[in-house]
This record gives sequence, structure tokens and C-alpha cells, in this order.
Amino acid sequence: DVTVGVLALQGAFSEHVQLLRLAAQGLKARKAVDVKWGFIEVRTPQELSTCDGLIIPGGESTAMSLVAARSGLLEPLRDFVKVLRKPTWGTCAGLILLAESANRTKKGGQELIGGLDVRVNRNHFGRQVESFQANLSLPFLGDTVDKDASEPFRCVFIRAPVVEKLLPHKEGIQVEEAEQDATVVAPAKTPADELAKEELKADVEVMAKLSAETPDIIAVRQGNVFGCSFHPELTADSRIHVWWLEEILKAVQRRQEFELVDGTV
Ligand code: GLN
Repeated sequence: DVTVGVLALQGAFSEHVQLLRLAAQGLKARKAVDVKWGFIEVRTPQELSTCDGLIIPGGESTAMSLVAARSGLLEPLRDFVKVLRKPTWGTCAGLILLAESANRTKKGGQELIGGLDVRVNRNHFGRQVESFQANLSLPFLGDTVDKDASEPFRCVFIRAPVVEKLLPHKEGIQVEEAEQDATVVAPAKTPADELAKEELKADVEVMAKLSAETPDIIAVRQGNVFGCSFHPELTADSRIHVWWLEEILKAVQRRQEFELVDGTV
């Protein structure tokens, strides 16, 4: 059994759960992989602790972070992402929360979860009226998905952030002295196991840009942690969800193999 949680404090969480269900059906039909998936909404540390992977949806990152703090979820979320290093995917506001650094807006900053060594610019494209959609090809989908991967993905940007800077890697802990105004997360605890330590060594990979001409990075990944600026959950296209479920299966398998080896030592 593999459990995937969707953080359900605020924002487009039910849309993600629906697409996860669709993706699991697609995966089963196409690959005959027999996995018993559980998709759950996460509102408590207890629910989070049952998850093998997590999605943080789009919405409003300040609101989400405040509710997370009030629900006692902020530290467990940081543990999940930065210590256990379990697969986590943030969309839009979720990407902001997974960044180690984000700019403040007029309404202020917020506590981040962190886990991606990047700095994001919130509301990069301006206000709600500047929201837009773009058909982009996402090469990372490769041949792991049903439809031809070269078929463009309808990317929905709503007050979207972009990754404006990749930060120097410091084992998941990022403090930029020059940017005192940035929200900085507390240092991660010592990783509980070697696998998590290995995961923490991964570099940030740029997975997609808005176009070849712009510097705007709209998808990044660092080992098990993935973030995108847009909202796949607001479309009916489950290709990224299929890809992500496959990534979770790989991570679960790595963990099992590691535990097996570790157990014999
Ligand atoms: N700009 C929003 C924020 O700061 C994110 C918008 C979104 O998730 N659609 O949280």
C-alpha cells in the first residue's frame, strides 16, 4: 500500500485528489502495476505521518502557512520534506512554501517549509488580472505518460511565482545573509537516516522554463522534492500526476531496498 497525501488546509486540494485517482487508473491500465493506492487529505500531523508522498496545492501561501502553524503541522511538514526527505510536490503556493527563500509581498512574508534550494518571487506576473494560460511542452514527462509527451501541457498561471534564483546548496539549510528581509527557515535537524542524507545531496534541476527566451523558471526538482509555478490540478490532464506517482513508487522502492541492505549489516 502506498499512501499519498494532499495538504488540505486551504486551496485546490480536492482537485489534486481527483487527478491522483485518475492518474492511478491510468497507470494501472497502461503498465499493469498493481499498487494499492490510498489518497488522503492531510490536516493533522497524524495523517501526515501515514504518507509516503505529499502534494501541497495551489492557493494562498500565507494563509496556508498560518493554518499549518496553528494546526501544529509546520514542524512535521519540515521533518517530512527536509529530514525524512519523502517525495513532496508543491504547485504554485505549494512551490512557494517549499522554497528556502521567498520575497515579501505588501502583505508581508510567511513561514516557509523549505526543501528546495531556490528563491522564488511570489506573484511574479502581477495581480489576479494578469493570470494566464500557456501551452508548454514539459520534456520531463518523457515516455512515462499516456499521451505523447511532446503534446503541450495547458499550464494555468494564477498570481504565479517563478523561481528567480538557484541557491548554493547547504544540506537543505539556506540562510542568505545579504537578504535579511527574506523569510528564512530554521535549520534542519540531523537527517535520521543515510538515505535521507543521500537525498539531501541532490542538486536543484531546472525542469521547465516559460520559454527559451525568458529567465523564468517554472518547474524545479531537487531529489524527491518537486515544485511548479502553475496548477495542473485545475486541468483534466493527469500526465504530471502519473509521472509523480511513478516517482513516488521509485522512492518507496529505494527506501525498501535501503532498509533491506541496512537490516543485514
Ligand atoms: N501568489 C500566491 C501566493 O503567494 C500563490 C497563488 C496560487 O497558488 N495560485 O501564495
